[in-house]
Amino acid sequence: MSKEKIWLSSPHMGGTELKYIHSAFDENWIAPLGPNVTGFEKDIQVFLENDGKSECEVAALSSGTAALHLALVLLGVEHGDEVICQSMTFAASANPITYQGATPIFVDSEEQTMNISPLELENAIQDRIQKGKKPKAIIAVHLYGMPYQVDAIEEISKKYDIPVIEDSAEALGSTYKNKNCGTFSDYSILSFNGNKIITTSGGGALVTRKKEIKDQAVFRATQARDAAPHYQHSKIGFNYRLSNISAGIGRGQMEVLVERVSQRRKMFEFYVNLFSEVEGITVQQAPNSDYFSNHWLTVIHVDPEQCGFDREVLRLHLEQENIESRPLWKPMHLQPVFQDAPFYGTGIAKKLFQNGLCLPSGSNLSDEDRDRIGSAIRECLTKYSKNYG
Ligand SMILES: *Cc1c(COP(=O)(O)O)cnc(C)c1O
Repeated sequence: MSKEKIWLSSPHMGGTELKYIHSAFDENWIAPLGPNVTGFEKDIQVFLENDGKSECEVAALSSGTAALHLALVLLGVEHGDEVICQSMTFAASANPITYQGATPIFVDSEEQTMNISPLELENAIQDRIQKGKKPKAIIAVHLYGMPYQVDAIEEISKKYDIPVIEDSAEALGSTYKNKNCGTFSDYSILSFNGNKIITTSGGGALVTRKKEIKDQAVFRATQARDAAPHYQHSKIGFNYRLSNISAGIGRGQMEVLVERVSQRRKMFEFYVNLFSEVEGITVQQAPNSDYFSNHWLTVIHVDPEQCGFDREVLRLHLEQENIESRPLWKPMHLQPVFQDAPFYGTGIAKKLFQNGLCLPSGSNLSDEDRDRIGSAIRECLTKYSKNYG
């Protein structure tokens, strides 16, 4: 294939990352601690507090998955416990529940944001309590950058006194009612994996409103070493801290985060225009102005009956043109590995999965790339659509 590949979402360096990496080498901070780690934490904190409503503490970690795991550990989740988790998400939201020997309880999505349904969440909580176990935590996810129904979920969390773990891995730069995603919980997590809106090649963070929680997270992430001259341990620890090299990449990336958000949103606008006249294909949009999405990935829904073709036809057509697209996250309750886990819902996540497609959304896509994507999509519509062209 001669045409260069257009990726769904690929790393996009800002230019100053190497400066921070060089300083790590110059100062010989080649370790999972050092000035870049501290500086990166500060950069994230300053960014998250820029809404004028949030106060937070940040612990930089080796991945978003590690951050989720530590959140569960710090909340005291143990063998035999139950933890509620949004079913429609990446497996990394749910896997750490099993690391603790706990059981995930999956909950369906609502259609407006594609995130955890408040109605089904409350059903699930009531039923689990009735069955004899109150869930220890609720993992809610801002999928593809779109905030979940924050107020409704917080209300349920308060009513039943069950803490929310906010999975903001895909939503750095998104806001709900002008407050930054990543600041809605004492246990919020971010990811800086290679495909996220900014990257440290691999990395994550736990964001909290409480200094004690940050201190505990760092303590556990660095092998839970007690204060003693020898190696003394009274708790189980992990090796989950972010390296000073990776944090250097993060410092450079934080300088361009705002620009990255507007570039992703530009891709979203491009698709809104492209599909505005197309019957049977809808672009997932914010329900109202309370929701501001970074549009990490733009999602479309292909109605096979109206279109005369399904999302796989479009995906394969794009693939032929060397353009990457991807079905939505397959819900966790439909995954072989979680087939025995309880699920509460009506099938909305399943339907979203069947008809949904993520389109190339990278901040580094050019006008030329957009032209190619546009032509490929129009070609597919002309070829297969019942009512186009
Ligand atoms: C990427 C991602 C994670 C995991 O983050 P890693 O840094 O890759 O471990 C967790 N949840 C969601 C929703 C994600 O997209």
